[in-house]
Amino acid sequence: MITGTLIWYYYICPREVWLMSRQLTPWEENPFIELGRLISQESYERDTKEVQIENIVIDIVKTQDEEVIIGEVKKSSRFIKSATMQLAFYLLKLKEYGINAKGILLFPKEKRRIPLSLTKEMEEKLNLAIDRINQIIKSETPPPATKNRFCAKCGYREFCWA
Ligand code: SF4
Repeated sequence: MITGTLIWYYYICPREVWLMSRQLTPWEENPFIELGRLISQESYERDTKEVQIENIVIDIVKTQDEEVIIGEVKKSSRFIKSATMQLAFYLLKLKEYGINAKGILLFPKEKRRIPLSLTKEMEEKLNLAIDRINQIIKSETPPPATKNRFCAKCGYREFCWA
């Protein structure tokens, strides 16, 4: 089942999607994974709680002027495309449940908040990404390792580059 996390990784590294789908555990003590967790727990505790709907977990859900707003918290805007598409994926899933929500990307360390509305173009891109992710997961071998900006922080770097 496609999750927001898989969408996030797809836009960074399709190989990582394959590795995650095989439950190959990344390096547990990766400090960046832990930092992400802490920021998401501490910075927005006052807003609302994490909400899980089927296979998606949304960091923050609140209503404002009768509109549903969902928030995705990230430690930095470095991978903003991934963050945008992950949040767009949540908006798409909510739309399938009949909820027209708006999104907001939150970067607490940078004190940035970026509003996001789901567009037709995003929906088309997401549907293509979902098809591609399903193909990657079904494949018996992973896509080749390609050096990218995430490799240095990736829990699979020993696996790919040792
Ligand atoms: S180390 Fe680099 S190539 Fe390997 S899975 Fe991670 S991001 Fe992808």
